[in-house]
Amino acid sequence: MTGGALVLFSGGQDSTTCLAWALQRFERVETVGFEYGQRHRIELDCRERLRESLGALNPIWAQRLSDEHTIDLGVLGEVSETALTRDMAIEVADSGLPNTFVPGRNLIFLTFAAALAYRRGLKHIVGGMCETDYSGYPDCRDDTLKALQVALNLGMERRFVLETPLMWIDKAATWQLAEELGGRDLVELIIQGSHTCYRGERGQRHSWGFGCGDCPACELRADGYRRFRAEAADSELEIAP
Ligand code: ZN
Repeated sequence: MTGGALVLFSGGQDSTTCLAWALQRFERVETVGFEYGQRHRIELDCRERLRESLGALNPIWAQRLSDEHTIDLGVLGEVSETALTRDMAIEVADSGLPNTFVPGRNLIFLTFAAALAYRRGLKHIVGGMCETDYSGYPDCRDDTLKALQVALNLGMERRFVLETPLMWIDKAATWQLAEELGGRDLVELIIQGSHTCYRGERGQRHSWGFGCGDCPACELRADGYRRFRAEAADSELEIAP
């Protein structure tokens, strides 16, 4: 097994930042995307362009960026009726979770990713799960992923490391991380090329990127971007004479 990495890459802000993070650290980086009857395929269509743009940003990243995989998990749409897989309004259910929740989705994604990483000889599995800004999805929690890492390693007799660089940072800090990894060019690439909107809208370009502007995913992304810009402006004032 090499020290390479497999990045769960959906084409959104978080997974694009995770891909840059992995390219900075690992000599071989492969990506995997899942199709499971999403209402919009825009995120998946963004992926190839984002991979090309990341390679163009940094020649070392271009060398390290290796194969792209797509896994069809259409079966997920059969077992769950959610706003992401059916034509439903996005709202918060009685459980307190938004109805975008596909039960156990990340457990399934990571298990398939580990099976792929096993075959590809990759040790690190990188995902954008986050406990700080999250919508309450229990399969994004650090404890869940720690337990899954143990289960995968026992069940496959490997030493996979589940890497979650965004786990303890908020959306503003995710933008900040992108700036640290690839400067303003990477921030601009993520604004322009990544997709987050639950409704799959790309008609209007805002300062933070494309989207409807009022679904939970757009609001989180926009608010994080505003705080990131505000913090950047504050620190520029501090270092000014
Ligand atoms: Zn939206």
